Amino acid sequence: MAIIPVPQLSDNYAYLVIDDTSKQCGVVDCAEADKVIAEVERRGLQLIAVLPTHWHHDHVGGNEDLVRAIPGLCVYGARGEHGRIPAQTHEVDDGDTVEVASLKARVIGIPAHTNGHIAYYFAALNAVFTGDTLFIAGCGRVFEGRAQTMVDSLAKLAALPDSTQVYCGHEYTEKNLRFALTLEPNNQALKSKYEWAKDERAAGRYTVPSTIRDEKQFNPFLRTDSPELRANLKQLVPTLADDKVAVFAKARELKDKF
Ligand code: ZN
Ligand code: FE
Repeated sequence: MAIIPVPQLSDNYAYLVIDDTSKQCGVVDCAEADKVIAEVERRGLQLIAVLPTHWHHDHVGGNEDLVRAIPGLCVYGARGEHGRIPAQTHEVDDGDTVEVASLKARVIGIPAHTNGHIAYYFAALNAVFTGDTLFIAGCGRVFEGRAQTMVDSLAKLAALPDSTQVYCGHEYTEKNLRFALTLEPNNQALKSKYEWAKDERAAGRYTVPSTIRDEKQFNPFLRTDSPELRANLKQLVPTLADDKVAVFAKARELKDKF
């Protein structure tokens, strides 16, 4: 069992999820089929399934090319995306189980970035694929839902076991941490994660995965209860209401312009 990131476009990640025994694998989010197929072949694997997190082009743009190259491929797609997943063969919904050879994942509905955005939670791998909903130290833009929708979706992910490894859709970590520091400049976990991320990126390494435990310590969108974060937002907006959703919405709005 292994998870291998395959960089796509300028800052996207596809991930191979590999069943060692059968040498079969699935790919979570594919923008560029050639790069995914090359990695599959280099490792002597057989690609059997495509697991898209949401319909945006940088997460499904490679689907048509994949099925052309590998006939019979199973392509999952969330019901909530209403057929917008190219080459979709199997519809899934919150709570369903998808299979990649002997590996099983629970589908978790996490709408807001898109209405049908889903995560894939592989309990046996202790890993969750969060697409553009939960990033390392950040979250996706709210395109199709409301602030409340995203707060609820993030809460579902935060409720996974602390040790769960978080594999997200983009390498946005360094910029996310820079923004987070504007809200919690004295958060020690955040400061050290930022130093770490700068070194990793300078060395050309990926910052994925993180863990649910880590995200709770430095991700501003999971830290709407933090007194420091709230105080800093209130300096900017003295009338800001004291509820989670209002705090989230303000932080998200600032990040949109960061
Ligand atoms: Zn997206
Ligand atoms: Fe994306």
